[in-house]
Amino acid sequence: MDPGPQRWYARTTLPVAEWVVRHRWIARLAVAQAVGVAMLAGSLGLGRPVAAQVLLVIGVPALLSLPAALPPRVRTMLATGSLALGASVLVPLTGQGETFAWLLLALTVSALYQDWVIVPTVLVVTGAHFTLIELGPSGLDPFDLVPLLATVLAGAVHHRSWRLAEVEARTDPLTGLANRRRLREAADRLLRRGGPASLLFLDLDGFKAVNDSRGHAFGDALLVEVAARLRACVRDGDLVVRLGGDEFAVLVPGDPVHAEDVARRVRVDMAVPVQLTGRAVRVTASIGVARTSGTAGRRSGADLLRDADVAMYQAKAAGRNRVVVCDEGMAEAVLDRAALAEDLLAALAAGDQLAVHHQPVVTLPAGVTAGYEALVRWQHPVRGPVPPLDFVPLAEETGAVLALGRWVLRQATRDAAAGLGGEVGPSKVAVNVSSRQLADDGFVDDVCEALRDSGLPADRLVLEVTETSLVEDLDSVCERLQELRALGVRIAIDDFGTGWSSLSYLRRLPVDIVKIDRSFITDLGRTPAATALVATIVELARGLSLDVVAEGVERTDQRDELARLGCAFAQGWLFGRPVPREPVRRAPASLTSG
Ligand code: C2E
Ligand code: CA
Ligand code: CA
Repeated sequence: MDPGPQRWYARTTLPVAEWVVRHRWIARLAVAQAVGVAMLAGSLGLGRPVAAQVLLVIGVPALLSLPAALPPRVRTMLATGSLALGASVLVPLTGQGETFAWLLLALTVSALYQDWVIVPTVLVVTGAHFTLIELGPSGLDPFDLVPLLATVLAGAVHHRSWRLAEVEARTDPLTGLANRRRLREAADRLLRRGGPASLLFLDLDGFKAVNDSRGHAFGDALLVEVAARLRACVRDGDLVVRLGGDEFAVLVPGDPVHAEDVARRVRVDMAVPVQLTGRAVRVTASIGVARTSGTAGRRSGADLLRDADVAMYQAKAAGRNRVVVCDEGMAEAVLDRAALAEDLLAALAAGDQLAVHHQPVVTLPAGVTAGYEALVRWQHPVRGPVPPLDFVPLAEETGAVLALGRWVLRQATRDAAAGLGGEVGPSKVAVNVSSRQLADDGFVDDVCEALRDSGLPADRLVLEVTETSLVEDLDSVCERLQELRALGVRIAIDDFGTGWSSLSYLRRLPVDIVKIDRSFITDLGRTPAATALVATIVELARGLSLDVVAEGVERTDQRDELARLGCAFAQGWLFGRPVPREPVRRAPASLTSG
């Protein structure tokens, strides 16, 4: 396979741990061979000084290869040298040409290093031996060249198979491009040398759909074509890589303008439809670029790849088929999110960083508190308070929202059972439910358990679900909502008006309450459209016997307008901010039992 224009000087195909194991055995073998050959010299009556000399010359390199102080490459050469030397001296020691066969064994054992250095090492040793012994005073017999020739040929064959293994371990079998491993090594090497470089991370847009609809053979052919186009877009010295699936990368050494050129050429080339099995397919790619320049933090190839990956995701998020360059802040933001996600898990385990605050929901026009909405709060030990919009969506991505939601549900029902505004008896409480929770098979059980453990009557609990979570899998979600309503729990549609559903859709949903999104309330009385929309929702809800809650009421004119339109409930800073439950007279222990 074509190793590409990039020169490749590999260390070894062996993973470090495997090298350590093999080296331990090979080095021991070399020591044993040195001792054996020295004993042989002694037993052949060559005298102690000769035996000692043999032991020294063969044994010392083997011993030197043992301690970890020297670099692995040097230790490989020492052990190999000792093995080859021990084998070569057998002929002059014994005077028997047959013993030369032992050298082939030495070469075979050294080949376990899977390292190109063993070939020159063995050749140097046997060459030196040949020069010293065979070209000695006795003169040259042409048959004496046979062992040397055999060693050279065996070495060449080994070197060839080693090269093939090296290339294969660093090549993507489908496209023949370099693979992830080769990229990492090449990028690390570039960074070590301190040379500027850029990495392009390409992900094909919509490849999965093509693969699914037209079959894998078609998908493979498309990837091969894309690989060929990428190769045509780069200069000598750039490394084109298939990372896996429909992900590619190009490592571009040198000034960032080269990388910009490559990105531009790739986009132009990709724009030409691919002709496959008689049909034209249009391929686009989202490209993320990371650079080594001006980034103290990007020390390894892995960092560079991660940052390019981050930028690629931004390119996807921004609408695909575009190039985004990773800047310092971008990578940091992603790392920060990952750290926050981890901290949230810790917070859930610790228990004392999270709290539930309650915001009153009042009747209109009287302004009497009718219930509360439970809103989660996170006091991070280092960052301070983290807004729910920063961690709830994150928890949804990671799945932590299941544990978080369960915790909020238990806390809110417990608080409500104890009374929220200092009044006696259980309060009404609305708890936000994420779509992940709603899709979870254990959710209804969680609700039952929270009600049972807190002692809160089911008709005092409202579950708020967003419009979008209903749209996702309407049938199964409706079924679940029906189950909850059968318990006596009421269902509210949160942020109504921001989702995809039409107003008439409301009729089909198993809900009891509509919460009009704050964005409509903000413009109420200011734009005719907002007023008309609120009026329509209120009217429609009345027709369907649903309660309506207006969210985010901050001004008296909004309140008055809502009252005029016949909206029965409102919530907002005008009536009260979310606050922790006031400590009440009753002992909490008696409320949490059961
Ligand atoms: P949401 O469910 O729409 O909650 C209402 C948000 O509006 C709350 O923000 C509340 O503090 C804020 N708000 C209330 N009145 C006013 C007002 O007059 N003016 C303004 N500007 N804002 C007002 P918060 O607490 O930051 O929560 C934001 C979102 O985070 C919530 O939106 C909800 O989607 C989510 N969230 C909060 N707690 C939970 C929870 O326990 N579980 C889940 N799944 N989501 C939660
Ligand atoms: Ca809500
Ligand atoms: Ca809302």
